[in-house]
Amino acid sequence: MIRISAGSAVCLGLKANKMDAYPTTAYFLSGNSCRMGCSFCPQSMGNNGALNRLGRVNWPEFSWEQVKEGLSRAEKNGIRRICLQSVRHEEGIDPALELIEKFKDISNLPLSLSAWIKDQQEAAALFKAGADRISVAIDAINPEGYQRFKGGSQEERLGLLFDCARNLPGKMSTHLICGLGESENEALGLVDRLLKAGVTVALFAFVPLKGTLLEGGTSPPVDSYRRVQAGLYLLRKKLAEFNCFKFNEQGRLISFGLPETDLQRFLATGAAFQTSGCPGCNRPYYNERPGGIIYNYHRALSASEREAALTTLIKSLQKSSNLS
Ligand code: SF4
Repeated sequence: MIRISAGSAVCLGLKANKMDAYPTTAYFLSGNSCRMGCSFCPQSMGNNGALNRLGRVNWPEFSWEQVKEGLSRAEKNGIRRICLQSVRHEEGIDPALELIEKFKDISNLPLSLSAWIKDQQEAAALFKAGADRISVAIDAINPEGYQRFKGGSQEERLGLLFDCARNLPGKMSTHLICGLGESENEALGLVDRLLKAGVTVALFAFVPLKGTLLEGGTSPPVDSYRRVQAGLYLLRKKLAEFNCFKFNEQGRLISFGLPETDLQRFLATGAAFQTSGCPGCNRPYYNERPGGIIYNYHRALSASEREAALTTLIKSLQKSSNLS
C-alpha cells in the first residue's frame, strides 16, 4: 500500500471527488511515522498528528495494483511529474530506492523525491535508480529555527545540499517554510544563496496542523509572504540582485532596489505568486483553504487576482518605507 494525495488520486481516476483544482504532479507518500522530530509536521515521531495528513492535504492509501492502473492514465489527465515524499525510514533510503525502481517500471514521467539523505553517495544511488530530482528539505529558514523546530544542524544539511548541487548540477531542490520565526532578510538571503548554488527553491507558508507541537501557531501575514515570493521570482529570473534589496531594522523588506514601474512590469503576469518548486509541481491547497487566502496559486492568476496580489505587495512596500 502507498499513500496518494487525495487530489492526485482523483487525477489518477482512483477517487471520484469533484474538485475545483487539479494537481499537475501526482504526489505519493511513503512510510508511516518519520524518524525526524519536525514540530510542524503530522508525520513526525514527536507529534500526534494523523498519519494520513501532510501539509493540509489528506493522503488515503491505495494498493500498488491501483497505482499502476492510475498511472497508465496520468498523462491524459494532466499529470506531468511524480513526486515521492518519503518519511525518514528506519531502513534509510532502501524503501525509497525500491519504490523509485517500481515507479520507473510502470511510468516514464519524471520523478522527484523528497527524502532525508545522509550523503552524496545516497543521492547518486537514488538518481541511478531513476530519480529526476531530489529535494533535501531545509524547511526552517534560520539556524535557530532549524534547531528548534527540526533539531540538528542547519549548516550541516545546507552543506550537503550545496555539495550535491555542485556535483549533480540542476538536479537538487529544497523546501523553505515562511513563518517559522525568520525575518524576510534571512529568507531572501538564503533564497539567494540557494539559487546561486543552482538549487530549485519551493516556497511554503507555515500552516498550523492539528496534533503537531505547532498547532497553536499562525500562518505568516500574506503581505510578508508576497514580498518573499516576489523576491524569489526576481532573483530566480535575474531581474534584481539581493545586494540591492533594502530591509528595515527588523529585517522586513522595504525595497527591491527597482523603480516601481519596473517592479510592476516584472511582476505583471502574476507568475511570482504561483507555486514554486520542481517543474510541473503546483500543490493545490497545500497551504491554504479553498476560498481563503491563497499563498501559492496552483494555476495562472486571473486579472483581479494579479491586481490584488500586486497591490498588496506594492502598498506594503510603500508602508514599510514610510515606517523605516
Ligand atoms: S517541489 Fe514539488 S515536486 Fe519537487 S519535491 Fe517538492 S513537492 Fe515534490
